[in-house]
Amino acid sequence: MPPGEACRDYRPAGCLAMTVDLERAFASFVGEELLELMRELFPLSRSLTGDGVRETLAVLARDVPLEVVETPSGTPVFDWVVPREWNIRRAWVEGPDGQRVVDLADSTLHVLGYSLPVDATIGLDELRQHVFTHRDDPDLVPYRTSYWEEQWGFCMSRRQLESLPEGRYHVVIDSTLANGSLTSGEVRIPGTTDAEFLLSTHVCHPALANDNLSGVVVLWALAKALARQEELRFTYRLLWSPGTLGPLCWLSRNLEGLERVHHGLAISCVGDSGPLRYKRSRRGNATVDRAAAHVLAAEPGSLVTPWEPGGGDERQFCSPGFDLPLGALTRTPHGLFPQYHSSADDLDLVTPAALASSLRTVLEIIEVIEANATCRNLSPYGEPQLGRRGLYQSVPDGTRPEAALLWVLSFSDGSRDLLAIAERSGLPFRTIQQAAAALEEQELLERLS
Ligand code: ZN
Repeated sequence: MPPGEACRDYRPAGCLAMTVDLERAFASFVGEELLELMRELFPLSRSLTGDGVRETLAVLARDVPLEVVETPSGTPVFDWVVPREWNIRRAWVEGPDGQRVVDLADSTLHVLGYSLPVDATIGLDELRQHVFTHRDDPDLVPYRTSYWEEQWGFCMSRRQLESLPEGRYHVVIDSTLANGSLTSGEVRIPGTTDAEFLLSTHVCHPALANDNLSGVVVLWALAKALARQEELRFTYRLLWSPGTLGPLCWLSRNLEGLERVHHGLAISCVGDSGPLRYKRSRRGNATVDRAAAHVLAAEPGSLVTPWEPGGGDERQFCSPGFDLPLGALTRTPHGLFPQYHSSADDLDLVTPAALASSLRTVLEIIEVIEANATCRNLSPYGEPQLGRRGLYQSVPDGTRPEAALLWVLSFSDGSRDLLAIAERSGLPFRTIQQAAAALEEQELLERLS
């Protein structure tokens, strides 16, 4: 199979068994495709609400069956109310010499998110009161919003602000803040059961690559990959929504069916070259926590951390009233990379290899959860005679092919799942699962769940 074919299909089964050469091909083909999509999405004016989010979702919907869901302004959502919709068309600051100091057309970061409209000529002192700069780095433009306090403002580097001459400045923000709605995108990929696997990312940041777009495009690739699977046990629900309010709107819409959510992952900041990091769900030992820890154990340098209430979408899904079994997969998480929420979180910060490896890791976690089962040894009185059944050859486990078979037989008493046996034995889940399949075929094992 040519490498390009393997990559465009994003098939976990095919990809996970890849050789090292194909692995590299996967990283370069898939990663480049994801980066290309990020380049297209980068300039759109995303915010908590507005057409930038709709335009972003429309791009994703070219390739995946994405349904757009609108929640009207004024809708109460738990302790919140969906705000008015913000749209921005043009904005700039023009200096005393008639030259533009900053322009929305150059970067959507230059305008404070949710800025009220303004068209005025003001002095430098007054302008300074409406300019936000980066706290630490004088050369970076910060990403700032004011969703809940009505004001207008621009963002620029401190160095640029300090270089502005005295004089009159023409400030223009052509925006509207009016009743409308908050926009989310959902893809539903049915499985053979109603049990659901929820995958979520935020879609509300403007020109930021790692914190935001990396999650957006990896979720898009997951939707494509999952839609092409012949059979899935779980029903997959993928959600692109604005931070905080998006998950809350989803939870509010799905209150009746939350018990169907068996597994979940919030995915963000997955494009930088930092190590993979999985933050456990609030429950701490949900199946997704165990599966992610098992998969990441094979990734050099990766981290598994306990639950803490900061972070992204998981803050809502794991709040104590819901407590969904949902963990968070990132590379360097929110706030911990120096480029965070600034103009330095640009397309140079993300790499095709990191994007591809993040995607692959999620697919591996999904593969473990799809294949996990609790089994029962049907021949528990002494060891069954494996050699007679040709089982020693059927498990490709290097020097001790029988080890996985013995582990599965030993612990398949109906109380442990295959993932627990992989954890206990220290063998890869795939090896344990293949051993279980071989034993099942010889009627030495039955699946209970
Ligand atoms: Zn952010």
